[in-house]
Amino acid sequence: MSDDVRRQDGEAPDLSPATLAVRAGEDEARAHRGTQVPIVYSAAFGYEDVDSWVDAALGRTEGHIYTRNTNPTVAAFEEKVRILEGAAAATSFSTGMAAVSNTLFALVAPGDRVVSVKDTYGGTNQMFVDFLPRIGVEVELCDTTDFEQIEAAVARGCRLLYLESPTNPTLKVMDIARLSAAAHEVGALVVADNTFATPINQNPLALGTDLVLHSATKFLGGHADALGGVLCGPAELIKMVYHYREITGASLDPMAAYLFVRSLKTLALRVRQQNENAMTIARWLQGQPVVDVVNYPGLESHLHHDVAARQMRGYGGMLSFSLGGGFDAVKRVLPRLRLAHLAANLGAVETLAGVPATTSHVECTAEERAAMGIPEGLVRYSVGIEDAQDLIADLEQAFTAA
Ligand SMILES: *Cc1c(COP(=O)(O)O)cnc(C)c1O
Repeated sequence: MSDDVRRQDGEAPDLSPATLAVRAGEDEARAHRGTQVPIVYSAAFGYEDVDSWVDAALGRTEGHIYTRNTNPTVAAFEEKVRILEGAAAATSFSTGMAAVSNTLFALVAPGDRVVSVKDTYGGTNQMFVDFLPRIGVEVELCDTTDFEQIEAAVARGCRLLYLESPTNPTLKVMDIARLSAAAHEVGALVVADNTFATPINQNPLALGTDLVLHSATKFLGGHADALGGVLCGPAELIKMVYHYREITGASLDPMAAYLFVRSLKTLALRVRQQNENAMTIARWLQGQPVVDVVNYPGLESHLHHDVAARQMRGYGGMLSFSLGGGFDAVKRVLPRLRLAHLAANLGAVETLAGVPATTSHVECTAEERAAMGIPEGLVRYSVGIEDAQDLIADLEQAFTAA
């Protein structure tokens, strides 16, 4: 099995994601006959002589030099995600936003044009409206669900098309294959943020993107205790972004990498349960008179349910709904939830609830949120692995009491 799971050609080995999540990517890092990946807390790695040191430093032989560049525990995490995403190479970061910003800064230059959409994660949106324009990169943000508009913007020429699907917090779905094809016609690179879907539910590279990234803080970690990011794709592109990250220094800590390796073993189990719970709860929410709109790609009523059904194997653990009573109703309901942390996170085994104004889009002004089509009465609900009927009973008592 080791040969299979260590394949470097970017092709998915002949094992299912559930098996790979448990087994893949660990062999190189194991030591002292331990069955588990150790936490290698060493800033640097020593060599017996100058020649072997030089060979490793120049990448002519395998070997770690300094943990800002590479580290065995961190490499095991990168390997696992690389294999789950069916990529040739992967590199990691201290946070999801480091993955996003390092990818963008490494791949675009002043004078380039970037096309994306209005509904990206709040921090990513700030890259597009503030940091990229500051260095002379032109950014056009399209309507997330208007694929013709995105194709037209791409056809005017661009260096990079940045996708996120499903989106945060309104769970919009983008047609990854169609938009990637449009971008490739003008020679643009396509990057997709796959944080919400996870590699269990969706593989953007297989749908045609050049790169896929994750905030590992969310579903990959799954236990709300570590921050990290990861990027997968072809070796040349990963090398460019890795070089930017090793120099600017947003490297993943070995302890966080260890927690991710451990958490990834249960990724398939967790995501399967979260998919199932979210579907059950979304259907129940649809029948509640206090709820105006339920956003979940698994519902037939979702605008792009057909696209989601085509490109996803499961619809994920994230949903959002708006309460008819607006922000006042949200303020009454949320504190009454007993089985949801009110916290700015998602993708954990525990259910979390929040409002975009305090979570994903805290970086944006009320006007920016309105422009992005995010109602102030929206609740973002990250479904955990608790029993779905317990979660429904919890929502029901909170709605009734409020
Ligand atoms: C949380 C998140 C990020 C940023 O990740 P951090 O680990 O918080 O820096 C990026 N994209 C999406 C979709 C996210 O949910």
